[in-house]
Amino acid sequence: MKHILIRSIVNLLGITRMYRLLCPFLSGQGLILAMHRVVKDGGRSRIGASSRIEISPGFLRELLLFFRGRDYEIISLDDLYERLEAGVKGPPFVCFTFDDGYADVHDIIYPIFKRYNAPFAVYMVTSFVEGDAVVWWYILEDLLLETDLPIHFTFRGREYCLDVSSKAKKEQAYNILRQILMELPQEQVSSLLKRIFPQVEINFLDYNSYQISWKKLLEMAKDPLVTIGAHTVNHLNLRKLTRDAVLREVMDSKHILEAKLKGPVHHFAYPFGSKEEAGPREFDLVKRCGFKTAVTMREGAIFPVHRHYTHCLPRVEVTGRHQDLKLIDMRRCGLISLLKNGFRPVVAD
Ligand SMILES: [Zn+2]
Repeated sequence: MKHILIRSIVNLLGITRMYRLLCPFLSGQGLILAMHRVVKDGGRSRIGASSRIEISPGFLRELLLFFRGRDYEIISLDDLYERLEAGVKGPPFVCFTFDDGYADVHDIIYPIFKRYNAPFAVYMVTSFVEGDAVVWWYILEDLLLETDLPIHFTFRGREYCLDVSSKAKKEQAYNILRQILMELPQEQVSSLLKRIFPQVEINFLDYNSYQISWKKLLEMAKDPLVTIGAHTVNHLNLRKLTRDAVLREVMDSKHILEAKLKGPVHHFAYPFGSKEEAGPREFDLVKRCGFKTAVTMREGAIFPVHRHYTHCLPRVEVTGRHQDLKLIDMRRCGLISLLKNGFRPVVAD
C-alpha cells in the first residue's frame, strides 16, 4: 500500500516537475551514490536479483554527465569527510561508490572514470577478492534458467518441492532459495547447491571471473582517483552476529586490505545496509574500528549535520531497475528520501 502511494505521488510530481520546488530544502550538500556492477547487456533472459545490481556503461556515463551538467563536484570519500568536518558550505557534491568488488570495477568502471577524470570508491568484500566466495546468486540464476523440471530437496528437516516450469515460477523459486542461501555460511553454500541440483555438474571455477583479482585491485589502488574501502570479510548480516564476530568481520577486512594495499583504509560500507542489517550497535563498533566514514543503504542526501553521523551516512542506490535520469533527479532533490523515511528530511540513523 505504502509503495503504491509513493509511486502515485512520484508520478504526479514527476509529470509536473513540482518536486524541483523541494530541491533547495531537501537536497542537502550532496549525495553518495551506491552501485554494484556496470555490465554490457548480455541480451539473454534474466531472473532473480542479480540483474537488479547491474547498470549499463551508457547509463553510468549519463549519470556522470547529469551531475556535471548540474554543477555538482564529483569528489572522493576523503574530500567528503573533510568537507563535513570543516562545516564549509560549498558547491553541491556527489560521491560514486561501488560495493562488493566485481571484476567490472576494473574492466569497465575504472576506464570510464579515468576518461572523465572523476574519483570513485570501491567497498571490497575481502573473501570475494581472495577467491573464497561463491557467487551463488549468479550460479542459482543460471541453474534455474537451465531447467524446467521440479526441484526436490530437504533442508533443516523441511521438504521443498519447487515448480520451475515458467519464468514466474522460476522467480518464486529463486526467492525461496535466496532466503536459504544468503543465511548460510560460505563453506556450506556449494554443497547445498550440489544437493539441490544433483543432475547438473556445477563448475564453480567458471564463476571466478565475476570477482576482481588482487592484481587488478592493486593497479587501481595506485591511482589517486580510486578509493578502496572495506565491506567486511564475508558479507554477512552483521546484526545477526555476536559483538566479537562483528569486530572480526570488520577489522579483518580492514587489516587484509591494508596489508595488501600497504596503506590505510579509512572508509567502510555495511553489508546490505538496511535497518535489518545495520543498527546503532554496528555503527558504534565500526566507529571504534577507526574508520573516518561508514555508509548504509538508507536512502538520503548528505546534510551538514551528518558531521555528527559520519558512521551512518545514507546513500542513494542506483539499480538496474531504475536506469532513469528523471528518477535520479527526484532522488537528488530528496523527494524519494522524504517519502521513504516518513517525511523526515535528514536520515541519520
Ligand atoms: Zn555488498
